[in-house]
Amino acid sequence: MAEFGKELSVTTTTIPGLLVVDLPVHGDNRGWFKENWQRTKLREVGVPDLGPVQNNISFNDAVGTTRGIHAEPWDKFVSVAHGRIFGAWVDLREGPTFGAVFTTEVDASRALFIPRGVGNSYQSLEPDTVYTYLVNDHWSPEATYTFLNLRDETVAIDWPISLDDVELSDKDRGHPRLADVVPFAPRRTLVTGADGQLGQALRAVLAGREDVEFTDVGELDLLGDLSTARPWRQYDTIINAAAFTAVDDAETPEGRAACWRVNVEAVARLARVAAENNLTLVHVSSDYVFDGTQESHTEDEPFSPLGVYGQTKAAGDAIVATVPRHYVVRTSWVIGEGNNFVRTMAALAERGVDPTVVDDQRGRLTFTDDLAAGIAHLLRERPAYGTYNLSSTGLVVSWADIAKRVYELTGHDPARVTPVSTEDYYASAHGPISPRPAHSALALDKIMGAGFTPREGDEALRAYLQ
Ligand code: NDP
Repeated sequence: MAEFGKELSVTTTTIPGLLVVDLPVHGDNRGWFKENWQRTKLREVGVPDLGPVQNNISFNDAVGTTRGIHAEPWDKFVSVAHGRIFGAWVDLREGPTFGAVFTTEVDASRALFIPRGVGNSYQSLEPDTVYTYLVNDHWSPEATYTFLNLRDETVAIDWPISLDDVELSDKDRGHPRLADVVPFAPRRTLVTGADGQLGQALRAVLAGREDVEFTDVGELDLLGDLSTARPWRQYDTIINAAAFTAVDDAETPEGRAACWRVNVEAVARLARVAAENNLTLVHVSSDYVFDGTQESHTEDEPFSPLGVYGQTKAAGDAIVATVPRHYVVRTSWVIGEGNNFVRTMAALAERGVDPTVVDDQRGRLTFTDDLAAGIAHLLRERPAYGTYNLSSTGLVVSWADIAKRVYELTGHDPARVTPVSTEDYYASAHGPISPRPAHSALALDKIMGAGFTPREGDEALRAYLQ
């Protein structure tokens, strides 16, 4: 008989992420009723949003039927519809809690949230026990389970009924001891556009992480069929470092279409994959989503893009904001591996060229190693989902100021750089030129409040030029 009248509550256990849920069960002369899975109420008490796609039921007629220990590649929400079980869970995930054990009895007034990779087993304590569970991926013959022997001496589960006296399947009898179990690997992270400036920095910051997969356009074209491109339920995060970034080309008829395809259509496809599979989507935005009339841009300033590139970036941001788990990292004036302003100025200085450089667009550089480290920080610390600005800290400067500083730091006379207005600079341009925001500086309080402080701009520039 289930215990009636409990309050809905959640208790943590010795296994991280394994939660015991006490469920209110209402009884009367007809029997009883419970809300077994109620998404909103369970979320409010701290149970993760499972996103179930399959419901399974197993019926155990004899007392002592024992099944397990199986760690599966999806999360489970386990409960009992009739009868009672003794449940035993063993953490089989890679990491410091590998081998941790938790046991408890479960009747219809209890449920457990079992994270992917935690081994699950139970013994029925009453006849006709109906054990039921929701999972957030479809069972498939290709799914890889990790098993542990029910008799393992290291975890030494204290089964209420001796395993010598109960029904076990031949398969369960043959599972390995803990010392021979290969730990369950974590969910994967996919990085797109991994050969771009930011992508290369992400390769360096996330180097050595076996759970991270880096893809360039040849390995994963975001304009291909994304829905079946990966077994998405085995992923946790997508970091989208791919983009169309040729700002002036985006003003040509062909460039405009290409820019919309990569920065909007591909982003919409990624957002759909992320929303459908409960993934975290990290996307990178730009100061160009603003017209630059504000001197400093907060995360919640309304979009006001001037050119095609900025319009597509704004549209991409709006789409990503609909993904329940998302970080939009908005950045400006990115400098990394590849063609960029600092490299161009250093090369001109070396070749003896005296450039004219605009002095009426003001902002801060962002070095890709800071940007990649900031993204890694957000994914590690998981502050509230949403948009975070990220650029260097320190003075807001013009492109001409930066050019002079590059000349100086590379041993050349900064007076060789002539400041010029944007209007004059582009007066003799041949192809179409994108309008650019006059003020690109991003307010950095939010990312710093989340515990990440990028390097000061001049210090980072000096390090870059070395
Ligand atoms: P890059 O142009 O260096 O890299 C973008 C990468 O995306 C390239 O490797 C490109 O591959 C790849 N890509 C393009 N189309 C596709 C596709 N269909 N499928 C898969 N990959 C594709 O950009 P950054 O690293 O400089 O920019 C990173 C992010 O920062 C972008 O979101 C950008 O909008 C944003 N940003 C950049 C700023 C800057 O100054 N650079 C300023 C503010 C924001 P390929 O080269 O083969 O086309």
